[in-house]
Amino acid sequence: MTSLMDQLAARIHSDGTISLADYMADCLLHPEHGYYTRQQPFGATGDFTTAPEISQMFGELIGLSLAQSWLDQGAPKVFTLAELGPGRGTLMADLLRATRAVPGFHAALRLHLVEASPSLRHTQAETLKGYEVTWADSIDTLPQQPLFLVANEFFDALPIRQFVRDGAGWRERCVGLAEGALCFGLGPAAPQPALEHRLADTKPDDLVELCPASPPITASLAQRIAQHGGAALIIDYGDWRSLGDTLQALKSHAPVDPLHAPGTADLTAHVDFEVLCSVATGAGCSHSRVTPQGVFLERLGITERARTLANRLDGTALDSLIAAHRRLTHPDEMGNLFKVLGITPATTSLPPGLTS
Ligand code: SAH
Repeated sequence: MTSLMDQLAARIHSDGTISLADYMADCLLHPEHGYYTRQQPFGATGDFTTAPEISQMFGELIGLSLAQSWLDQGAPKVFTLAELGPGRGTLMADLLRATRAVPGFHAALRLHLVEASPSLRHTQAETLKGYEVTWADSIDTLPQQPLFLVANEFFDALPIRQFVRDGAGWRERCVGLAEGALCFGLGPAAPQPALEHRLADTKPDDLVELCPASPPITASLAQRIAQHGGAALIIDYGDWRSLGDTLQALKSHAPVDPLHAPGTADLTAHVDFEVLCSVATGAGCSHSRVTPQGVFLERLGITERARTLANRLDGTALDSLIAAHRRLTHPDEMGNLFKVLGITPATTSLPPGLTS
């Protein structure tokens, strides 16, 4: 079996350098060697820990926010409950448990998970045993009906392209080969229509990122929400507009060289929320402010929820609950780095926890 490194080297040798997006796509989702295809990256023994894996409170509060939004929109009798990139299925399991008490919610929901990795689909099926689940390769096949959707750390896993400003043009950062090892290089300067608006706020040698998959995915969910009703909660790290290199490779909870041992580390990049907002607006939706995760969770009552859970705990279980609350909300931990964006039809109120 040839390694992903050997395959990439052969491809670059015969066809020339590849874009960073092509490199990331192979590293993450190559059918044989892709990071998400091969391994179980989450948790203490994996490479990174996500919010739902830190505490059940995260998925519970997301669930209550979406269920309230469903009630606010007249409790449609049939709707799609969808998650993009559900990982181990933990968030969805917590969401479903917390919404059991909402009359009619479970009877009306049709559960759809958009997941590219066969091995993670298997894990999700185990976690969500007892629920009827439909898996999809792409958001485009979700039914045309009201859509209530969550995506946590999904957009940051989509491949990005990077460009360095050169006069009024841009040089694309690509992946090539030097002395048998992968290396970064820059392509020739060329205009980039998608970066026209960035000529105003960048200077020579600035680096900006584009995530080609993010606008069509956002357009697809926003079209359903604008036309049929619903709400999306998108949680990720990033900010308004990208500036600078945010590509990051993580292995065993530590940063590593993104070009080293392709397919063995998690590769992510910050999400440019401006793009998501403008696509949502263009599709006829409203969107919330890009809200720090800590603020969102506090507004939804995470401290109250933690107190209730704490009443039943002591010793190390209590210590770890307190640590989880801090980790999810504190500005020095995930509270500020991670942002929440809500998308709804232009005519309806935002899900609880968010403001316009
Ligand atoms: N939401 C989970 C997992 C985040 S990791 C959590 O918070 O724990 C990213 C997830 O997105 C993984 O499940 C990965 O397999 C999936 N994924 C990455 N790229 C994808 C793509 N293009 N299409 C569908 N799923 C994808």
